[in-house]
Formats: sequence, structure tokens, C-alpha cells
Amino acid sequence: MTEIRNIFCVGRNYAAHAKELQNEVPEQPMIFSKPTHAFIHANGNSITIPKDRGEVHYETELVIRIGKSFQDGMRAEEVIEQMAIGLDLTLRDVQNSLKEKGHPWLLAKGFPNAAVISDFIPFEGIEACKRNNFSLWKNNEQVQSGNIRLMIFDFQTIIEYCASNLGLGEGDIIFTGTPEGVGTITPGDQVEMLWGNKILGSCTFS
Ligand code: ZN
Repeated sequence: MTEIRNIFCVGRNYAAHAKELQNEVPEQPMIFSKPTHAFIHANGNSITIPKDRGEVHYETELVIRIGKSFQDGMRAEEVIEQMAIGLDLTLRDVQNSLKEKGHPWLLAKGFPNAAVISDFIPFEGIEACKRNNFSLWKNNEQVQSGNIRLMIFDFQTIIEYCASNLGLGEGDIIFTGTPEGVGTITPGDQVEMLWGNKILGSCTFS
């Protein structure tokens, strides 16, 4: 499996999702991160989720993996090496109470197994990405589908913003935001993560 370094995530990068959670659309990328302990490869395995901290939500996202250190002036397509479908698992009740207090989201977004990632495939280029939807199927029903055409901040903007504020190098991955349709995951749910018609990852939650 591909080595993972920093895990960055973009919040509220699809207007319809910001709206469904009654959040404002941000004027610049909203970035948060997850500890590497959150990372788990979905390869038909069973993945444990928290059971005593309220609702666990899936957020299906296109994940890009950076292949080289970003230097000013580089294009996104030069630095993105691979891509995958990811689930940014979120303890939604915990997040809501943290938001109310103005506290960081880390406890809601950073628990072990909170970054579920399919197999990586070579990055196909931005235009190719726009021709395919990514989607999540839960218990044999499609529950979420998205296309990067609908992102508020594109790959170039996200990459430059992460690089200048946080640093960006080989092995870093970025969850690029979820479209609308987030919902709950409960033990026993079985999911498939699709790129177009191709299943890149699957797992059962326990
Ligand atoms: Zn997310």
C-alpha cells in the first residue's frame, strides 16, 4: 500500500453539501487534517467505528496523493501522482457540539479509522476526472455521487493553498470535499466506493 504522510481535508467544497448542513460557503478553502492513525485501507475488510459517541457519518470524497514537493508555479497535474475514493468519517454529534463551542473538529474527524481509503490508481488528469463521477454504495444502494466539476475550489487552488500555508510534499494526501447526500454508517453496513463504474474499494463496518 502507498505510503501516507499528512492527511489534509477540505471542508465545505461543494455548495449543495454546505447547504444541507446549514453552513455558509467559505470564501477561501477551509482546511483541516486527520492524524495518520485515522488512515485505513478499504480492501474488503471489516473496519471498526466508534459506537458510543453519537452518529457516524460518511462523506465520500475524491482523494489525491501528492507525488513530489510542491514548488511555486507548478501545475496541479504535475504534482498529483495518484487518486482514490475516500470516506471522511465524521462523528456528527460530536462535531456539532464542538462547533457550538468554537473548538477544533479534531475529535470528530480524527478518530482511528476516520480516513477510509480505496485502492489508489494513477491520476488520470483533471479533464478525465470531470468525465467520471465518484460514488458510494451502501448496502447495494447508491447513497452519494459527485463530480469535481462542482467543487468550489479546484485542485490547483487547494494545492497552492495547502502548500503555502502548511507545506505540501510527497506522500501527502488531500480529501477534496464531499458532495451532498452525507448520511449515517452503522455497524453491519457494507459499502463500495466507485470511480465511474469501477469499484476501487469496499468494506464492512463493525
Ligand atoms: Zn469531508
